[in-house]
Amino acid sequence: MGADDRIRVAVAGAAGRMGQEVVRAVSTCPDMELVVAVDRAATGQNLQEVVGTGAPDLVISDKLGAALDGTPADVLVDFTQSASAGLNAESALKRQVSPLIGTTGLDAVTLRELSRLSKELMVPGMYVPNFAIGAVLMMKFAEIAAKWLPDAEIIELHHDQKEDAPSGTSIRTAEMIAAARTGRPAHKPRPIMKVEGARGGAMLDVHIHSVRLKGFIAHQEVIFGGAGEVLTIRHDSMDRKSFMEGVKLCIREMRSLEGFVIGMDQILFREDG
Ligand code: NAD
Repeated sequence: MGADDRIRVAVAGAAGRMGQEVVRAVSTCPDMELVVAVDRAATGQNLQEVVGTGAPDLVISDKLGAALDGTPADVLVDFTQSASAGLNAESALKRQVSPLIGTTGLDAVTLRELSRLSKELMVPGMYVPNFAIGAVLMMKFAEIAAKWLPDAEIIELHHDQKEDAPSGTSIRTAEMIAAARTGRPAHKPRPIMKVEGARGGAMLDVHIHSVRLKGFIAHQEVIFGGAGEVLTIRHDSMDRKSFMEGVKLCIREMRSLEGFVIGMDQILFREDG
């Protein structure tokens, strides 16, 4: 923390869709200070030119390590791309800065390595595939339903510029469903495939279908089938603002964490929460 007790926040991907929203959200929080903005697509530009006059008067840099060496920070919020988020987080941890990774699509090897490094350096960090409070609740409700209704499929719908498929949220939901099932999902005969992939991709016996279209932001339906009944749990992020309460919550809670935490459910549903 800085001399005035505000949490010093760095943002990687500050000129992107999510990064700009984070800059706006952090800039309006009296307990936070935006100290570093990094984005390789807007290097050298003033953050106010990119995000608007509400943003601090900062020049966007392209080298995260050098920026953090020059300006101490407490938390690095990362909304870049899967290929760089792991390296950014490593670079932050080595400088005693806690990474808060919102970028999705990180693989298990990268997450394991970040967890090891976070423990070794005693700097907490987080990977949060979905910052929307409602989406975390949707996953929790799906986990509860899976105990009684083991047959589930997921439809996730996102804007057409999304880099990865299926979404990090759908993968995490499938993992939670699989872990919570007490019964085995019904055996379904393999259909004659008239179009390859029509049944989506199967993960842990949960079929996931990814829709990518203009107009969507981030949406997911988890559908459970039982004898003569269907339960549908649906969440819609209608605006990127839907992620910002979660981002601010994780920034504030970071200092209370130990090690590298995956998922905002670890904060929302923890025993002392
Ligand atoms: P975007 O393409 O609009 O923004 C990404 C920004 O990062 C760009 O401005 C790009 O120039 C910059 N960038 C990329 N690589 C960089 C690097 N190595 N160094 C510096 N800057 C770099 O993308 P977006 O829509 O903002 O999404 C970003 C990520 O956030 C995606 O992985 C997306 O899936 C994820 N996302 C997560 C949540 C969540 O709740 N966790 C919600 C929405 C999106």
